[in-house]
Amino acid sequence: MSDHVASTIRTPHPAGVTAGALRGATMDQEAPVREHAHLIRPFDPEFDEVGDVEMADLIADLITGLGEDVTREGLLKTPDRVERSLRFLTSGYQADVNTVLNDALFEAEGSEMVVVKGIEFYSMCEHHMLPFFGKAHIAYIPSKKILGLSKFARVVDVFARRMQVQERMTIQIADALEQALEPVGLAVVTEASHLCMMMRGVEKQGSSTRTTAMRGVFRDDARTRQEFLEAIRGA
Ligand SMILES: [Zn+2]
Repeated sequence: MSDHVASTIRTPHPAGVTAGALRGATMDQEAPVREHAHLIRPFDPEFDEVGDVEMADLIADLITGLGEDVTREGLLKTPDRVERSLRFLTSGYQADVNTVLNDALFEAEGSEMVVVKGIEFYSMCEHHMLPFFGKAHIAYIPSKKILGLSKFARVVDVFARRMQVQERMTIQIADALEQALEPVGLAVVTEASHLCMMMRGVEKQGSSTRTTAMRGVFRDDARTRQEFLEAIRGA
């Protein structure tokens, strides 16, 4: 894999995120109670520039802004929990898809269609920061290389764990796999429910959104595409 490919796929660390913070980013770890001393000081634009303020403090401000009492018992640890949760849910920014792929690429022995269906994913819509989640289905026809089957889910996670729109996530998964595998053809379909539609706005409970990315023979040959769509029907 060339340096060029690596640099186009890898996403730089967002400002303020340290390796140490990420190592601590597990969901179930109990956080120490922080003192939200800043809540009683007046707003100071100099001090409150992004980067100077702890993320948990920003979350405490958010909770206060929503009309809650961030000092009551049930909410004391919430800013820290939310920070850890958000860092996990956006950990795709720190993941390097080439590292995920490189040790699991093998020489292709055949050129039959490989279908990996029903890969669960959880992402977060970038417009409302609410979850969207569902399943991804991936197929490819190998040319030179094949990829270990468990890696498809890892690749999906790299792009799902970010602030996303479903269309872009689908394309990014396809782009990364296409660059790594150089296949005869590749197809990615994602189906998702969006909480921003279900909990608010139009409140369409049963709706789901499907986006597709078809490459090579999956784009150019209707029969290949049909074979894939049949294979994932009801998955
Ligand atoms: Zn949304």
